[in-house]
Amino acid sequence: MAILNILHYPDPRLRTKAQPVERVDEGIRQLIDDLLETMYAAPGIGLAATQVDVHKRVLVVDVSEEGDEPMAFVNPEIVRAEGWEEMQEGCLSVPEYFDVVQRAERITVRALGRDGEPFELEADGLLAVCIQHEMDHLAGKLFVDYLSELKRKRLRKRLEKQARVQGAAPEARAIY
Ligand code: ZN
Repeated sequence: MAILNILHYPDPRLRTKAQPVERVDEGIRQLIDDLLETMYAAPGIGLAATQVDVHKRVLVVDVSEEGDEPMAFVNPEIVRAEGWEEMQEGCLSVPEYFDVVQRAERITVRALGRDGEPFELEADGLLAVCIQHEMDHLAGKLFVDYLSELKRKRLRKRLEKQARVQGAAPEARAIY
């Protein structure tokens, strides 16, 4: 296992659209394990392959209190979505920034697991939000895209300033 380098906004590589995985082989399982290790170390509750500059449709999440319920999704698709909810989000690729985003309240997601077997999962609350946030990454989208142009400009300025002063350290809150 290895801790991978996480790309930071506004790195253009975060805009890459991930490619579907053809087969869940040893390489994909290794990627899943590395994503989980990187996510736990950050610490975060979700991580998409895009964030570590690997452009395959793979993401991991763990929204449990103890951090002992790792989940992996390969080629995830949302097959049903209903309701709306707003939650404050943060992102490992946008350090030290939090804002409210509106997303579907309940989703059904279909994916392949680490074992390559298809499964379907119904999710709500934080898990539903986290999966949608990570799936956005796979599409080259960031949660700050939901903000106003003015907010985004200010954020970009602040991050550029931070990067010049020091390597920006992510803080310990719910970050995906
Ligand atoms: Zn994120």
